[in-house]
Formats: sequence, C-alpha cells, structure tokens
Amino acid sequence: MATVFLVTLYEYSPLFSIAVVSLCFIITAAILLGWFGFDVPVILHSSDEPEVITPTPEKHMVQVTNPFALDLGSGPASVIDGISLKLCCLEPCILSCFWGCEVQALQRVLQTNQHDLKLSSPQHFLQALQLRYHYCETFHICKEDREEVQTRLPAEHWITDFGPLPRDRYPLVAVLTLAKEEARNIYNIVANVTVIHVPDDKYNLSARILFQYLLTSQRNMFELKPLFMSAGGEETPQPPDSERTGPASHTEEIPEVGESDWFERAGRDCVICQNAAVNRVLLPCRHACVCDQCVTHFQHCPICRAFVLESFVLELPAEQ
Ligand SMILES: [Zn+2]
Ligand SMILES: [Zn+2]
Repeated sequence: MATVFLVTLYEYSPLFSIAVVSLCFIITAAILLGWFGFDVPVILHSSDEPEVITPTPEKHMVQVTNPFALDLGSGPASVIDGISLKLCCLEPCILSCFWGCEVQALQRVLQTNQHDLKLSSPQHFLQALQLRYHYCETFHICKEDREEVQTRLPAEHWITDFGPLPRDRYPLVAVLTLAKEEARNIYNIVANVTVIHVPDDKYNLSARILFQYLLTSQRNMFELKPLFMSAGGEETPQPPDSERTGPASHTEEIPEVGESDWFERAGRDCVICQNAAVNRVLLPCRHACVCDQCVTHFQHCPICRAFVLESFVLELPAEQ
C-alpha cells in the first residue's frame, strides 16, 4: 500500500513540487501585499472578524442667525445716477457704501480679518481700507426697515466710469455692520460685505451682486451663494426664503440651508437604514444622509466616499 503511494508520488513529484511552490508563492504574495496595505482579496479575511471602526468624533456646532440682508433695489442703476439698495436687517445697522474701492485693498482687508483685525464696525473698515476708495457714504438703517436707500457718487468727483477692462477697482462695495455694540456680542455674524457691479459708459453690463461675504466674530469668512430651486413649484415645495432675500434667520453655517431643506422634502430617510430620520452631518464633506445609529458604522461618507473626520447633530426645525 505504502509502496504504491510512494510510487505514485514519485511519478507525479514534478507536478506536486510545482503545485506546492506555487501555493507557497501565492500565500507569501498575499501576506506581503496585505502587510503593505494593498487591497488584499476579501477571501483572505475571516468573515467572522469584525471590521474595526474607530468612532467618529462629534463636533460641537451652533446655529447662527444672519442679521443682514442686502439686495439690489428696483429702478435704474448707473455710476452717474447712483444705485438703490434694498435692505432688511434684524437689528439697527450701518450701511457704508465705498465707491470705487480698490480690488487689492478689499482683498487685503478681508484677509486681515482672518488674522489680526476684527472688522465689526464701519470705523474698522474705514481704517483698514486706508482711503483706497473714491468716496464713502454711510446710512443708518433702522431695525426691520424695508426701505430702499439711494447711494451715488457726488458730481464734484467727476467720475463717470471706472476705466477699461480689466479694472483695479470695484464700482461699489456695500458694507453692513451692526450699529449697537451689544448686538455685536449676540450675533456671530458681524459684517456683510457685498461687491456690486454698477454699469457705466465703458462697461455696460447690468447692475448685479458680484460677491457677498459674511464675516463672523470668530474671524471666519463665508461667501453667500445664490440659491436656485425648481421653477415649477409642484414637484418640490418652496423653502421659506432664499439666502439672499429676507433675513436668513434659519441659516445654519451658510452651506447647510439647502441640504436641510432637501432632506425635509426627501422624507428624512437615512440612506443606510431607510428607517430613521437623517440627523447627522458628516464633516468635512457636509453630507447630511445618515441617522444617529448608522453614523457609528461608517468611516466613509455613503454619498461621496470621503473619509469622515467628524460629525455633528443636525437639529431640524420643528414641524410647521
Ligand atoms: Zn440609519
Ligand atoms: Zn459626503
């Protein structure tokens, strides 16, 4: 019996050796690849071994209220005749209109806000801009005053245009700040900086808001983006108001607005379990797509696959 076995083994020994060597090679290669972090085939993992997931740290976030709303008013706008601005503020505010403000000067001022200087009053802006503008006009805006203000460059400045393109000055920079010192401590948002294009003979593009920034008391700067929605209105219910029109009192760190509305419309279903309300926002991608339970099982965002560094609780507004 043993002899038969040995003879058989002898006959097949080259094949047997090749098979053994190949098997050893495959196992070694798999171990090495696994060691260096390459994608090892799933078959090498024991299916019973639980995947190790470190819990996502929770970030503390606060909901902030934007006290400022500024939009272009109705009526014609030009450098010679001026422009009307529509304002609606939750607190008494001061509007400073800087005509012909230098692009570089404004960029520098916005950068210094992030480092050393806190820009929360018109005086701060006046100081920081260092007269790098043609003319400044200020208005006191009453609380919840919805009137339009008209600002224009006085005729004695003899400015009818801001030169050919490319330009080194913005036609108009409107800065909104809170009038009362105590209000500056209540609101996290301390200033609204709006860069406005005003048409003139050299560049006849219609008046429009080029950029709008919100400066916070923590010296962060956020750009407000226009919010677009379906024109039909039937498929998707309208959100209460857009970011640019009316005071955005429901604003939660600006970019969240659209997403939280979207999830309210979508029935608040967690994309993983489909069974619970979405109440977690993943950072840094800011996708709000999972519930409290499911967030503990994932290290990558189920929507964009971005690595999740932190998350925070999304408190949806109470049912209306
Ligand atoms: Zn879930
Ligand atoms: Zn994501």
